[in-house]
Amino acid sequence: MSADCIFCKIVQGDIPSKKIYEDDDVIAFHDIHPITKVHFLLVPKLHVESLASCGSQHQALLGKMLLLAPELAKQQGLSGFRTMINTGREGGQEVFHMHVHVFGGGSTLPKT
Ligand code: 5GP
Ligand code: ZN
Repeated sequence: MSADCIFCKIVQGDIPSKKIYEDDDVIAFHDIHPITKVHFLLVPKLHVESLASCGSQHQALLGKMLLLAPELAKQQGLSGFRTMINTGREGGQEVFHMHVHVFGGGSTLPKT
């Protein structure tokens, strides 16, 4: 837990979010500024800055998050989706609490 981390505050319930999933290790909620029809974030409850700060002790957690992506995407009505993990400032990361983006929603998904 990091004092001025926005996602830690969401994990603790200090900042509201549109939550779609929660267990002991992970929460998932809709992005506040969705860039596709469906855009949610998978966030570990543990504060880890980025994918680059993860080590072997996070292996199970990372696996769990990746496996949750298709499960939650299906629950959101998606038959296909895109995942993204921005890592570091140069990688486009803005919130320094590691997270996985999940994007979907047919024609709203940009081609890359
Ligand atoms: P990053 O660029 O770090 O990979 O993505 C951070 C994402 O978090 C952005 O898509 C941004 O819209 C989202 N975000 C930032 N603050 C909040 C918030 O307070 N609530 C929610 N639900 N999403 C947020
Ligand atoms: Zn945090």
